[in-house]
Amino acid sequence: MVQCIKDSTSISFVYIVNRRLRILNDEENHKNKFLIDALNQLKINLSDLGHTLNVIEGEPSVIFSSIAKQHQINKIYCEKIISPYEKDEESSITEPRVLSYWDSSLLNIDDLDFDVIDLPDTFTTFRKRVESKTITVTLHESLKLPKPANLLNIKSCQLPKYQNTYSGSVDFLNHYTNCENGAQNYLKDYFSDTKAHKYKQTRNELMGNEFSTKFSVWLAHGLISARQIFIFLKKYEETHGANESTYWILFELLWRDYFRFLHFKYDKKLYFPYGLKNKEINETSQDKISNLEEANTESSFINAGIKELKNSGFLSNRMRQILASFVIFEMKIDWRIGADFFQKYLIDFDIYSNQGNWIYIAGYGTDPRGGRRFNIEKQKNTYDIDNQYEMYWNENT
Ligand SMILES: Cc1cc2nc3c(=O)[nH]c(=O)nc-3n(C[C@H](O)[C@H](O)[C@H](O)COP(=O)(O)OP(=O)(O)OC[C@H]3O[C@@H](n4cnc5c(N)ncnc54)[C@H](O)[C@@H]3O)c2cc1C
Repeated sequence: MVQCIKDSTSISFVYIVNRRLRILNDEENHKNKFLIDALNQLKINLSDLGHTLNVIEGEPSVIFSSIAKQHQINKIYCEKIISPYEKDEESSITEPRVLSYWDSSLLNIDDLDFDVIDLPDTFTTFRKRVESKTITVTLHESLKLPKPANLLNIKSCQLPKYQNTYSGSVDFLNHYTNCENGAQNYLKDYFSDTKAHKYKQTRNELMGNEFSTKFSVWLAHGLISARQIFIFLKKYEETHGANESTYWILFELLWRDYFRFLHFKYDKKLYFPYGLKNKEINETSQDKISNLEEANTESSFINAGIKELKNSGFLSNRMRQILASFVIFEMKIDWRIGADFFQKYLIDFDIYSNQGNWIYIAGYGTDPRGGRRFNIEKQKNTYDIDNQYEMYWNENT
């Protein structure tokens, strides 16, 4: 965006709803609703600046080629996304020229003391390497938008309107406008009391607004950046003091970067059925998939997790791990089908973190220790001993 503003005398904003990936009116799906809310708010914010957000349904390559033919638009600027499907999508656009910029990690790739394609294979080695130097981040300067380039004859689609529809651990979203301003307010509010000081003790809980930061929902849609979180975190530590919990928020953001950088190194291999290993994959029958989709497994605790995911669009990190382990090792479903299932429902779906975590738990990634098989009964007894979680999701949905 910054580069686009610097290079251009006039610009136009286009968001493409690719029908192969999403339909606009899927009211049951919170991920879909969150995105539509955010687009509606972005339209309002851009209109306050004299600009229009053109939301167009269809194939990106077809739409951009038609825009280029009808208007004097010679460049498209967008975020660089390096997952295989998105890369193919970008290269399918032949005109106008696409300029994409990597911007979604906390660490600047150029600041790493190794080439990103030589990323250490284990997270701990990566983390120690980046922590051996002081981590500093800089935010982009704010720039004035150039004048609008109006896209005449372009049919922008009507977006549905949703209100106060969030539940479970993300019901706080009902109190924030779903846009950059809402996300910034949320960030300020999060660091306005001492929650961050207890993060490491609470982060493994299953339910509630405050046990973890919930930054992921805003991050996934580009409404805040990891760098903004880092700056708030450092200011918080200056005022309230640093402890193990405040450090752990950074630790988790480094996991986020690690899974991003892993894509630079292994690219498509992270999507192969056998990942980076030469192992058998689980045979998956339609019955197994239906049992997963319909929360019809032999474990009532797991069924509660599936219901939470489908009904709220969110799961704690702990429940994501438990559910992924159950899908892979107990139901014996191909790990990529599990990843797809999360992709369909998670409001905070992020291709790098989702694929990275699934391949890690399946044991098909870089981790030399193999997969992560959780003892479901032990997890239940540790994290839901009073049965609150299981009861809530099985009885309320
Ligand atoms: C099977 C599985 C699938 C997952 N899919 C996604 C996904 O699609 N999108 C997503 O954002 N996260 C995913 N995660 C990671 C993690 O569960 C979520 O980031 C976290 O639960 C979001 O809640 P939070 O913002 O309150 O996290 P917090 O615990 O408050 O952590 C702060 C931030 O650190 C980052 N983070 C935390 N844990 C991880 C992790 N294990 N991997 C990468 N980044 C992490 C996130 O950006 C998060 O917002 C997945 C984890 C598993 C086990």
